[in-house]
Amino acid sequence: MARGSDLGILKEKLTDARAITVLTGAGISADSGVPTFRGVDGLDGLWRNYRSEELATPEAFERDPRLVWEWYNWRRELIATKQPNSAHYAVAELERRYPRFWLITQNVDGLHRAAGSRKLSEIHGNIWMVRCTACRRIVENRDVPIQILPTCTDCRRLVRPHIVWFGESLAEEDLHRSYAALQSSDLCLIIGTSGVVYPAAGFAAVAKKAGAFVVEINLDKTPQSHFVDLSIQGRAKEVVPLLLSGC
Ligand SMILES: [Zn+2]
Repeated sequence: MARGSDLGILKEKLTDARAITVLTGAGISADSGVPTFRGVDGLDGLWRNYRSEELATPEAFERDPRLVWEWYNWRRELIATKQPNSAHYAVAELERRYPRFWLITQNVDGLHRAAGSRKLSEIHGNIWMVRCTACRRIVENRDVPIQILPTCTDCRRLVRPHIVWFGESLAEEDLHRSYAALQSSDLCLIIGTSGVVYPAAGFAAVAKKAGAFVVEINLDKTPQSHFVDLSIQGRAKEVVPLLLSGC
């Protein structure tokens, strides 16, 4: 559990901070019941025989777009039943309190937006957005289930989930925006991510090099715990809201 003294230090940093960058991962959405969809934990029934590494790839989509869309429909159905939790709302409140604020999330579930966050980069995409495989037009589509196979409203070609799949690069614009925010922030909060996945693994280092005070909030210690300025262990939905009192 988070120690009072650690929270005290963090609240002081929040009082002094002028620019904040928050990085979030699966841990914040796990508190809303969203599975990680990696390994066997998040998979059941029909999908037990598949690994996300086999379905969330451009090759899988090329081979069998119907199968990949069926899998995403199952994920959409599951995520559609989930709500933002108190940590998502607390992050949205930080955005309101600090004019210089940016959120970088690895989550594709859209729960930060649902909680009111607007200044954010969803660096792995968003499960409620689709992208045309021909003209690349990106539109919101919240249909549950989505009609298979879905097509572009402009050019009628096949659309795909607007998700960064295994083997694909992050959008340049998102990376630029994220690095710019990290380099100009004096406080960086890393919530619910172990920091082992590139490029998020490098984000803490970028912020620290730029002089930011880097804080990790995670259920367990992580490979980056020794590297950050403060490592707080606890549930995101319990720890993050505590930061709002006294800042
Ligand atoms: Zn199109």
